[in-house]
Amino acid sequence: MPGNPYIFKIQRYSIHDGPGIRTTLFFQGCPLSCRWCHNPESQAMPEKAGSENMDGIALALMAIIEKDLIFYDDSGGGVTFSGGEPLCRPGLLFRLLGMCREKEIHTCLDTSGYGDTKILLKAAQKVDLILYDIKLFDKAAHEKYTGKTNGIVLENLKQLSRRKADIRLRFPLIPGMTDTDENIDRVIDFLRENTVYRDIHILPFHKAGERKYKLLNMKNDLKDIQEPSVAWVGTIKKRFEAFGFNVRIRG
Ligand code: SF4
Repeated sequence: MPGNPYIFKIQRYSIHDGPGIRTTLFFQGCPLSCRWCHNPESQAMPEKAGSENMDGIALALMAIIEKDLIFYDDSGGGVTFSGGEPLCRPGLLFRLLGMCREKEIHTCLDTSGYGDTKILLKAAQKVDLILYDIKLFDKAAHEKYTGKTNGIVLENLKQLSRRKADIRLRFPLIPGMTDTDENIDRVIDFLRENTVYRDIHILPFHKAGERKYKLLNMKNDLKDIQEPSVAWVGTIKKRFEAFGFNVRIRG
C-alpha cells in the first residue's frame, strides 16, 4: 500500500478468515516459504522498515477497518490479521489489536506459529481468536516444504494450549506433502498429547494464485500439486473425527 510497506493487501467482506464478515489485513513478510503458498508476494520482508510513522499507519488502517462496523456487528465478524506473518511486525500488530479492543471489534490472528514466543503469547492476550496452522510433524519434511523446521511452531502451540488461548487449528491438505498417513497420525498424536484443541479446519489445496508466480517471476511449485478430490478430503476428515476432533472443511 502507498506509504505503508507493512500491509500488502486489504480484503473487505471476507468470509473465509474467521467468523462472520471480516476485513482482512495481509501483512508483508513471512519467514516461511511454503511450496503451496497462495500469496507469494507476501513472503519478502519489507525493504524499508522502522522509520515510518507507525501511529499514523495504524490510525489510517483503523479508518478502513471501521468502515464496515455494521457488517461485523450483523454477522459476528471483525478483523483478521493475516499475511505473510503478522508476528513479524509486532509494533503495528499490537497497536491495531489495542485499538480494536477499545472499540470492541472482534479480532483474529492468522499465524503460521513460526514466530517469537513472547510476541505470540503477548498477542494471545490481546486477540479474540487465533487461527493456527499445523502443517507437518516431521522436522525434515517441514523444512523441505516450508523452508524452516517446525520446533518453534510445535512449542508455541503447546505454550498457547497451557494458557488455554482460544485457537482454531487449520490443517492445509496438500497432496503428497501433508496428507500422508504418517503425517496425519503424528499430527493427531501430537495434538492429543500436548494440547487441549480438538477443533480443526481442513484447508484443501487449490490452485488459485498460481498466476502470481508467473507474474512475480518466482519458481512455481503449485503446478506440480494436484487439487485433492472431494472423496479424499472426506477420508482425511474421517481420520481426524475418529480421534474425537470436530472437523470442518473450508472451501
Ligand atoms: S506461512 Fe502462509 S504466507 Fe507464509 S509462506 Fe506459508 S502459506 Fe505463505
